[in-house]
Formats: sequence, structure tokens, C-alpha cells
Amino acid sequence: MSLLANQVSSFIEAIIQTINENADEVTELDRVIGDGDHVVNLQRGLDALEKISDELSKLEWSAALMKIGMTLMSTMGGASGSLFGTLFISMAKAAKGKTLDFNTFSQVFNQGVEAVKLRGKADLGEKTMLDTLVPVANTLITDATNNVALQKALDNAKNAAIDGMQSTKEMVATKGRASFLGERAIGHIDAGARTSQLMICTIADVILKD
Ligand code: ADP
Ligand code: MG
Repeated sequence: MSLLANQVSSFIEAIIQTINENADEVTELDRVIGDGDHVVNLQRGLDALEKISDELSKLEWSAALMKIGMTLMSTMGGASGSLFGTLFISMAKAAKGKTLDFNTFSQVFNQGVEAVKLRGKADLGEKTMLDTLVPVANTLITDATNNVALQKALDNAKNAAIDGMQSTKEMVATKGRASFLGERAIGHIDAGARTSQLMICTIADVILKD
């Protein structure tokens, strides 16, 4: 089990599979409190990443993150396209010149999530992808600071992602399309929180398997 930059192709393939398997469910989530296009937006971005995955695997991690972010930004569309694009571009900037290890990764991921907050003018508790991303960033930072073993830290990150995603169910949305619904959004999980959780759990599982 390791944290390797050259796993990028495995990550992309595994994420494409997970998103395809859950596509109907996520489309339904975005249809009920959004406009139903979230999975299609995401799949467009993932297809573009799959096409450049050989190129990505030859880049050092900062450059790969930058290329991923720019590709998502230019292909995905939707609110989520610019937000996921921002996540990776900001991670790339934070990763520049640093060696990839768990401690550095946790800080880099945290900086990416902070940039998503700024870009979306949103924070925890607004029924968005941030309700998955922020708890995961916090858990990674805490575990890296306390030298928690990678396997345990990945399990903690998965649990934080799942709890965060589920927490959106009872929230009223204050950002994005779901905010137009007021109280009627209560009882429905946010689509971006769900796809963020699925992707984080998939990446953790790929690392745990190796
Ligand atoms: P659109 O809302 O333009 O149709 P998508 O359907 O692809 O775009 O993405 C919707 C997701 O984007 C939401 O489920 C939510 O998680 C996320 N989102 C929307 N607005 C914001 C925001 N301001 N901050 C953070 N995340 C947001
Ligand atoms: Mg949508």
C-alpha cells in the first residue's frame, strides 16, 4: 500500500467505473434539487481525463494536478466544473516543488478545498460538495499531524466523506441551484457531495488495494 503519483490511470479508471455504476442515482439527486446534469458534466470531464491519462502518468504530481484541473475546467461545464477545476489547480499550485507524501498531500488537499470555498463563496453546512470535502480535509490534516498510519487514515477519510455526504440530506441549501427550493431541498442528498464522496472512497480503495 502506497501513495504513488503513477497510479493516476488506475484512479481515473476506477472513478469512471464508480461514477458509471452510480450514475442513475446521482442524476436523480441532481434532478430533484438541481437540473439533473451533474453526472453528465462529470462524465464529460472524466472522459477527457481518460484520453490524456498516459500523458498524466508521465508528469510529476504538481504538473499532473494542474493538467487535470485545466482539463476539468475546460470540459465539464456546470458549477461543479469550475469548482472541481479550482480544487485541482489550487492543489497543483500548493504541490509545486514538494515531494509527495501523506503529510504534504493532506496540506495540499486542504489548500485545494480552501480555494473551492473561495470560488463558490460557500462553506460547510450549505448542502454542497464542501460538506464532503471539508471534513475529509480536516481528517487528513489531523491524522497527518498525529502520524496516523496511512491505512487507518484512509479509512478515516472514507468515513468522513460518507458522514459528510449524508449530512447534506437534512440541510437547507444556501448555494447553487438547490438554494432556490428552500425547505423543499430537505430530505435529499446533494449530488456534488455524493460524487465527491464516491470519488474519494474510490481513490482510497485503490491505494488500500496496492
Ligand atoms: P449546475 O449546478 O450548474 O447544474 P452541476 O449539476 O454539475 O452544476 O453541479 C452541482 C453541484 O455543484 C451541487 O450539487 C453542489 O455540490 C455544487 N455546488 C453548486 N454551487 C456551489 C457553490 N457555490 N459552492 C460549492 N459547491 C457548489
Ligand atoms: Mg446540475
